[in-house]
Amino acid sequence: MKNIYLLGATGSIGTQTLDVIRQHPDKFRLVAFSAGRNIELTKKIINEFRPAYVSVISEQSAKQLAEQYKEVEFGFGDEGLINVATYDAVAGDEHFVLSAVMGAVGLLPTLKAIEMRRTIGIANKETLVTAGHLVMEKARKYGVKLLPVDSEHSAIYQCLQGEDAKAIRKIIITASGGSFRDYTREMLKEVTREQALNHPNWSMGAKITIDSATMMNKGLEVIEAHWLFDLPYDQIETILHRQSIIHSMVEFEDTSIIAHLGTPDMRIPIQFAMSYPERIDLKQSKSLKLEEVGMLEFKKMDFERFPCLKMAYEAGHEGGSCPTVLNAANEAAVDLFLKDKISFLDIEKVVYESLEHHHKVDRPALEDIIEIDKNTRRIITEKYE
Ligand code: NDP
Ligand code: MG
Repeated sequence: MKNIYLLGATGSIGTQTLDVIRQHPDKFRLVAFSAGRNIELTKKIINEFRPAYVSVISEQSAKQLAEQYKEVEFGFGDEGLINVATYDAVAGDEHFVLSAVMGAVGLLPTLKAIEMRRTIGIANKETLVTAGHLVMEKARKYGVKLLPVDSEHSAIYQCLQGEDAKAIRKIIITASGGSFRDYTREMLKEVTREQALNHPNWSMGAKITIDSATMMNKGLEVIEAHWLFDLPYDQIETILHRQSIIHSMVEFEDTSIIAHLGTPDMRIPIQFAMSYPERIDLKQSKSLKLEEVGMLEFKKMDFERFPCLKMAYEAGHEGGSCPTVLNAANEAAVDLFLKDKISFLDIEKVVYESLEHHHKVDRPALEDIIEIDKNTRRIITEKYE
């Protein structure tokens, strides 16, 4: 029995994780979870899974919940997130933390979970983008496994099973192209929030759906891959593949390419991480019918069309605190776009300006990262809100 500590249970990845737990009550037990502001769903999850600890964003909501559920412990805010990742009242068994919150708030709970030597499934890519060096260093120090949940990274991880990592020539991350893959730059000037939120292949949270439309998501994934697989940026390629059937590939020194194929169902990589090293049945997922897919298409990635991807490669290459700024600026910009305060193309402009004005810190410590993240967001909010 694995004890599951789930950060972001009310989100898109979170609810799909609950579905995996629901399918395998003999293997997984939800011990603690965090939610944000969705209290109705929080109650449903408590009623169904009877966890020991729950955290939400607001103190007031935590108090109200505590009155209703006497047998559950409640927390709130940033500390509550850490408590979920480190909750320690259940002895024995294995402990698995799944980080599926949105944004850099996932950083501290992840670092704390590593200190407790808990295996971590990481969907929350912003944590690796903002402070990949700290997370990986700590994971190495404590001998902790970070199992990717992002579909591309899970695919690469699966392609690498039993392989020699030194024989990797490059990894090839596929991109569906997002909501505006058939739009020209000119057409992007007028696009709305509703159009951007309409992803052709995947149903996901709002922020990552916008990131997919700007192609920043692929940029964040390149940086995420750099840290997870310890590869330099010139060994990480991206390619457009609109069907999202191949989730990513690895090319080896003998030019063989191993690819991972599957239906676009996030429960597959979620479950893979949760059950690793075992591979178990995923009951409601349909087999991929290649005869129905027919053809697989690929197209070279166009960096002029997708400047966010280019900026992410550059920030990753530049290193130091640059990815922290890239991530914080992007989170702030997407938030402004979702509130209708800036246009779609302003997102890339805001990120560009933030990187332009930043004085790089070479090996930022945790305090530097927290400070830079906060300042980057503050400057943007003051200017645009
Ligand atoms: P959602 O927006 O659907 O869910 C985010 C979760 O985090 C919700 O539970 C939300 O709570 C909670 N949350 C948001 N902000 C805070 C905060 N400040 N403090 C505490 N909790 C917070 O996101 P997704 O599930 O789509 O994505 C989660 C992560 O997984 C992201 O990093 C994303 O990039 C990554 N990912 C997602 C994929 C997908 O298919 N969705 C695929 C690959 C990676 P509430 O809703 O209750 O307010
Ligand atoms: Mg992905």
